[in-house]
Amino acid sequence: MERLSRPHSELKDHYDTIVVGSGYGGGVAASRFARQGRDVCVLERGREIHPGEYPNTQFGFLKEVQTDTPIGRVGSQLAMFDMRYNKDINVIVGCGLGGTSLINAGICLEPDPRIFEDPRWPKAIREANLRPYYSRAEQMLQPRYAPDGAAPPKKMAALRDAANSLNQSFTPAKVAVTYSDGVNAAGVVQRACTGCGDCVSGCNISAKNTVLMNYLPDANKHGAKIFTQVSVKRVERDGDRWRVHCQTYTNDDTRTQSRFLTLTANTVVLAAGTLGSTEILLRSAAQGLRVSSRVGHGFSGNGDMVGFAYNTDREINGIGYAHDVPPGNAAGVCSNGIIHFKNASNVNDECSLEEGVIPKALSPFLPMLFAVGAQVTGTDTDAGWMDKLKELGRELTSTVRGAHSGAVKNTMFMVAASNDSSDGQLRLEDDRLRVHWPGVGQQPYIQRVHHRMRAVTQALGGTYIPNPVWNRLTRHSLLTGHPLGGCVMADDATQGVVNHFGRVFSSDDGTAVYDNLIVVDGSIIPRSLGANPLMTICALAERAVE
Ligand SMILES: Cc1cc2nc3c(=O)[nH]c(=O)nc-3n(C[C@H](O)[C@H](O)[C@H](O)COP(=O)(O)OP(=O)(O)OC[C@H]3O[C@@H](n4cnc5c(N)ncnc54)[C@H](O)[C@@H]3O)c2cc1C
Repeated sequence: MERLSRPHSELKDHYDTIVVGSGYGGGVAASRFARQGRDVCVLERGREIHPGEYPNTQFGFLKEVQTDTPIGRVGSQLAMFDMRYNKDINVIVGCGLGGTSLINAGICLEPDPRIFEDPRWPKAIREANLRPYYSRAEQMLQPRYAPDGAAPPKKMAALRDAANSLNQSFTPAKVAVTYSDGVNAAGVVQRACTGCGDCVSGCNISAKNTVLMNYLPDANKHGAKIFTQVSVKRVERDGDRWRVHCQTYTNDDTRTQSRFLTLTANTVVLAAGTLGSTEILLRSAAQGLRVSSRVGHGFSGNGDMVGFAYNTDREINGIGYAHDVPPGNAAGVCSNGIIHFKNASNVNDECSLEEGVIPKALSPFLPMLFAVGAQVTGTDTDAGWMDKLKELGRELTSTVRGAHSGAVKNTMFMVAASNDSSDGQLRLEDDRLRVHWPGVGQQPYIQRVHHRMRAVTQALGGTYIPNPVWNRLTRHSLLTGHPLGGCVMADDATQGVVNHFGRVFSSDDGTAVYDNLIVVDGSIIPRSLGANPLMTICALAERAVE
């Protein structure tokens, strides 16, 4: 696949449209505006990293992690996995051309329609038919069910059986993955998924339909100029134009060097993700840009929760294989199936629970981590001395022979998306973004999700280990990969930051907007979705740029 990004020396002073960020929102905006014939420039803070270059060893993985904590930063700001530690909720996002699509599971889900009845959505969205926009995104992302015929991956079969025994509805997952070699909607050649399971450490096969594979090549083909390693700090009004203040990064083998520059544009599209776009608007407001005082409000972790059904009575095969997929025993894509815990009377009580694969790069740590986790925070859901003996035997096997055997091979990684109160706050402190959300780890949805994960574990005969960062020592801190909100859409500036098309309100009240400053990413979503968010981010972006 050809490289999409250009050298910084080709940056012009002025563009018609600057798109900041290259995840789902940025990809949609770049492709659609370039197709309209506009002079489009995409500025992405991360590197261009292609299939074949993603980490699949411990060392390679650690080099691709950047960590931001209240007391300082560790790791290169160009590393692919961007971890943000906060007191109340930790967030993981992607950094690179293609955004978080590089490190996600690619599950394509639409939320329950009742989610859109919430008055936190602007009236126009509550009344809109979003289906055409979801299907437009589907045409580009081409999500698919795993092909019929072959035996389902073991983790999927286990989740389906657990759903049946709990009397809950189960569906296979539709995932943005290619199952046969061919050319995609953007004309890029992709290879068929091998079922190695390493979707979230970056698909080295080129089977995952990341934004790098579709929307961005489409934008490039239609004339958009793409630049990586350019981080936008803030935007400023300058007559009819926008001044976009940036920092560029160049790296040699030993260090990263940076330089500041300012570009101008007629239109700016902020698509730097929930954290990135909110940070840019907060910083711009601090330097005098008139926006709603709601910037930073309405943050949600999408009710995310992770947990583990450890050392169950059956093989789960949920550890990635990188290049060594055993014939006839592939892990499958990261998530193959979903249990939908439904509640006809209250959509906020619902949750979707998926199985996942832990990438091979992390596997050496797992036998020890799980064995300790089971002792410290685990609950064994079955009893009997024979069962206990078998569990001990499997634990020993994993410790001696590694994560692809014994207790860890019988472990299911569970990920849930549900509904939180969506009222966390993002603030700039020492020029860095922090999440404040006291008490979020004690919200009622947490116990509901725990209860469901424990039930799945019991159906599989394992030990339930909750989210390792959620405990008394961490004051019940959470972890989300689905951050939403911060620049939420609303009917007016007293309630939100952008209107239903993502146009930024130009004062603290009323409905007046800047016509040519728009936000199109997860930050505009005003509440948790109870489902994985990528399709909704794309659909709202497709609608806004149309
Ligand atoms: C492990 C994991 C698994 C997931 N699995 C799923 C899944 O299966 N299904 C699903 O629907 N969702 C999933 N998600 C979430 C989903 O990927 C995100 O919700 C989605 O990518 C957000 O899209 P976005 O356009 O808002 O932002 P992003 O995709 O995060 O893109 C933002 C881009 O902006 C760049 N950027 C940030 N700041 C700046 C700046 N100042 N200047 C320039 N560029 C900047 C970033 O580097 C990034 O490239 C997962 C997330 C994770 C972490």
